[in-house]
Amino acid sequence: MPDNTVAAPAKVSAWDVALEQFDIAAEKLGLPQDMRQVLRYPKRQLVVHFPVRLDNGQIAMFSGYRVQHNIARGPAKGGIRYHPDVTLDEVKALAMWMTWKCAVVNIPYGGAKGGVVCDPKKMSHTERERLTRRYATEISVLIGPESDIPAPDVGTDAQTMAWITDTYSMHRGYSVPAVVTGKPIAIGGSEGRREATGRGVMIAAREAAKQSGLAFADATVAIQGYGNVGSVAADLLAKEGCKVIAISDSQGGTHHPNGLDLAAVARYKAANGTVVGYAEKVTNEEILELPCDILVPAALEGQITAANADRVKAKIVVEGANGPTTPGADRILWDKGVLLLPDVLANAGGVVVSYFEWVQDLQAFFWNEGEINSRLESIMVRAFRDVTAMAQKEETDLRTAAYILAVQRVAEATAIRCIYP
Ligand code: NAD
Repeated sequence: MPDNTVAAPAKVSAWDVALEQFDIAAEKLGLPQDMRQVLRYPKRQLVVHFPVRLDNGQIAMFSGYRVQHNIARGPAKGGIRYHPDVTLDEVKALAMWMTWKCAVVNIPYGGAKGGVVCDPKKMSHTERERLTRRYATEISVLIGPESDIPAPDVGTDAQTMAWITDTYSMHRGYSVPAVVTGKPIAIGGSEGRREATGRGVMIAAREAAKQSGLAFADATVAIQGYGNVGSVAADLLAKEGCKVIAISDSQGGTHHPNGLDLAAVARYKAANGTVVGYAEKVTNEEILELPCDILVPAALEGQITAANADRVKAKIVVEGANGPTTPGADRILWDKGVLLLPDVLANAGGVVVSYFEWVQDLQAFFWNEGEINSRLESIMVRAFRDVTAMAQKEETDLRTAAYILAVQRVAEATAIRCIYP
């Protein structure tokens, strides 16, 4: 029987990174020790092991997780990741980051995340469907439109969300579209959700360029990751006039100093399964060190570390991915004068439009794409200004400033509700 329950250990512990980031902000904020203890723990963590019938008739065991970090400000919200390297530690970190992200953009959610240790690229459509329906059933003790609302993350997409909606609805006996976000529009998804994270990355980059006097319309951009976040961010940045000089997927990257033709890259990827080979080859490590104005890590965590941060040449780093930069690298980039827009701000566009999707589902009343994008724009710009104002006031980097803002909001909600019983 194939065993998918054991994942390779992650290089840098995302959970250690999340705790260190929190501790830095808590210290700066002078947060009382008892509140620090409350916020350092995830509220709930569910581990599930479940069998899935493969297409060849064999049964394989899979492990999955769902973690809720904090729900003081509202229902738990966070994506579901399918990747061979998923660990409980990683899911805990991603859940904590969701708590801070929802607080930074001030939407009424707590933080959660889920994951299954699997390689969706090596599974057929029907195997992915059976895995998803079984995992959704296993975590149905936690998820629901009023309690915990999943969304797509690495390795999952709108189809995955459609299966979860259907599975949850079958168990209820009626349709519950608000149980997940990032669904297809045909079953209650929102206009603009697919592009929302990339659009938020573009807005954050634009505001940062404006603030630092960089000509956005001529800026050169390197993007690590060619998924939902990276590919959409590339297209929207190019629409603003930026020159995307490099982009990568899990197999490596492609680079042209005069800029890539993104439509041609998309066609090449569709035909070859990778962007590698379209232009000059670069590795996923090299792409981070290319001379460019704006670097967008939009793949996985732990990419910019103390070992390579010194070689980053970009003036602005916009974290499309969650947790791509370690605290050691943060310090090096800060000393070098690199402006880093932290994940909890820069990639919050996705959860903002997820929130819009959930509100539309609950009201069964849908908005058009123009309304969605303009509301997203105003929330992202307001959050950017809130974070930069906090950074100036506290004389600190934008990550610490964003955390101070978020931790203050979550701590206030936690304190005002008091400790039960
Ligand atoms: P995705 O699965 O659509 O794409 C991931 C991309 O990363 C793919 O191009 C893949 O080939 C590439 N990749 C995988 N392993 C890699 C490696 N080792 N090195 C380099 N590239 C690698 O995922 P996504 O939804 O675009 O998510 C990317 C990042 O953005 C994640 O950190 C995720 O948590 C974060 N994020 C996603 C959303 C969202 O709405 N989808 C929202 C906020 C944050």
